[in-house]
Formats: sequence, structure tokens, C-alpha cells
Amino acid sequence: MEFSTVFLDVQEKDVRPMDEYNGYLDRLKQDIPNYYAEKGESRMTCPVCNASLSNMHPPGEEFTKNLITYVKCGSCSSVVAKEKFVLSNIQAFFTESESRKYWMTEIWSKTSEARIEKIYQPFVSWAQGRLLDYDFAEALSVAEFLPNQPGLLEGWKRVRSKDNLSAFASCVTTGTNLGESVTIHSIETNEKVDILMSVDGLNRFEDPARALSWAIEHLNPGGLFFFTTTLSTGIETLELGADSYNVLPPDRLFLPSYEGLQALAARAGFEVVEFSTPGMLDAALLRHAEKEGRKLSPTIQYFLNNRSVENDVKEFQSTLQKLRLSAFGRVLLHKKDCKKT
Ligand SMILES: [Zn+2]
Repeated sequence: MEFSTVFLDVQEKDVRPMDEYNGYLDRLKQDIPNYYAEKGESRMTCPVCNASLSNMHPPGEEFTKNLITYVKCGSCSSVVAKEKFVLSNIQAFFTESESRKYWMTEIWSKTSEARIEKIYQPFVSWAQGRLLDYDFAEALSVAEFLPNQPGLLEGWKRVRSKDNLSAFASCVTTGTNLGESVTIHSIETNEKVDILMSVDGLNRFEDPARALSWAIEHLNPGGLFFFTTTLSTGIETLELGADSYNVLPPDRLFLPSYEGLQALAARAGFEVVEFSTPGMLDAALLRHAEKEGRKLSPTIQYFLNNRSVENDVKEFQSTLQKLRLSAFGRVLLHKKDCKKT
């Protein structure tokens, strides 16, 4: 399995303008009781690794955030919502809630340019570069799999105009469809594609195994699934636990660990070709947490207080990538049965 270190020029203000982001969090607090109060059964097993959730490490490690209780799997360290939720309520949240409307009108409008330039375009470049390793036909069928962010398919089209593009959406995420120039298919469609892409869609699924099964079923033999996901094993989440800015219910109902996600992908039948963690915000978020008086480990506290000049922070972030300890995972999965050139 390969990984690479990547410099993405992403800053916190690019994706989280503070006033608007706080406005979103305020609205989330009001919305969640309306859409997530009705809970289903409690999970007995980890949805990432299938281990019993009574096997916790340390025992009983769980926390509640915005009414949603998370538990950390003692076997694979993934952080998952302890209870299941009613699918129609999740759908209603993403399509009707004030917080999602606010996100679309206030945050997306102020961050779309930076997101497209600094996140989606590098994602497309990465995916296109990796195609060279595979023996595909000249024209490909390419789809975006949740939650349909403008910039991915459009970016792909700019470089490979001959490919057929489409987007798949699930009922969970129809409300976050931001694209206008693509055809949205139901998740139940039988269409198969060569390439699937998804930016931060997986964390919204209640059942990540179902998401990956769906992905492999909708790929042609030899197909590739490129995606990014927030991980539980990023240093910011490891340090801050319940206070982690990355544990954001209900957008993130589960955060797979680096190890757990590999096992999950293998169980679905994928080969993990690449697993990198090109996150650039861990140090900034830890600094942010420190300013807000959150408790950090002595080592990180010392580093932030004494070594956080620009070069040290860059080196720190680069080291996190080398150790795959950044919160932002970038993964390439391969549906086997295709020879690698
Ligand atoms: Zn687990």
C-alpha cells in the first residue's frame, strides 16, 4: 500500500470562516433535537471492524455531542454513533433543516472558490494522475458518489472531455446536491462505472460497510474508487476526543480509523492501493483548541508554546502525513480483476 505526502495550501479560514461556521453550529444545536431525537437500536458491533462494542479501550469510553452519543471502538479505534437513526429523519435533516440551508447559502457561498481550487482540483489531479497506472480504455465512465460537490466532475471534464460523467446520490444526501450540470441517479441505479469519486461523503453513512458494498457493486471490474474521509486517528481527534472539531454530528456519524478503514475496504472486496493523509489543518486546529482553553497532552502543549514557528509547524504537519496521523484521509481502492500495467 502506498502513501504520499502532499502540500495542500488549505487554511482554516478557507473552509471555516469563523462567524459563519459558528452560525452553522448554533443552528445545528437547534436542528438536531428535531431530526435526531428519535433513535433506533444501539449498535452491538463496530460498523467499521465488526468487533463487539463492549470491547472498549479504555473501558466505557464514550461521549455525547449535540445529543448524539459516540463510542470509540476498542478494537479498531474508529469513533461511531452508538445508536442508529431513522433514515427518513436523516433525509429530512439534509433536505429541509435550517442549518443545512444556512450552510448552503452562507458557508458554501464564501468558501466554494477556495474549496474548488484547494481541495477539489487537487483531488481531480491526483485521481487523473493515478489513472496512468491502469490499463483503462480511452474513454471512461466516471461518477461522483455523494455528496456531489461542484468542482469534481467539472474539473474532470476540463481534462478528459471524452468521458461520460454522472453523479450518484443517496436519499441521505440529496439535500447537499450543489451541482447543476450533472445528472443525479438514485443510489438504487444499476449503472456501473469505471471511476467513482467522493469527497467527504462516507462519514454521513450510518453503515459504512453498505456504502463500500454499494461502491464495489457499481464499479466495473478493475474500477477505481477515489475518496476522502475524516479519520478518527488524526492527531486532532486523538488529542481532543469529544472536543474535536472533526467530530461534527450529524455530518459525521462515524469516523473510521486508519486501520479500521483498511479492514473494511478489504472485507468489501477492495484492494487498498493508496492511503495518504494529506491534511493541513491539524496543527491549526490544535492551536485553535489551545486558545479556547481545551485540554491538550503535555507534549502537544509544549510544542505549541515553544516550537510553533512557521517552519516547525510545517515540519510537524509533514511528519503527521508520513505517519498517517492527519485527520484527512485520501484513499484509492481498486476493484480487483484488472491487471496493473
Ligand atoms: Zn472497530
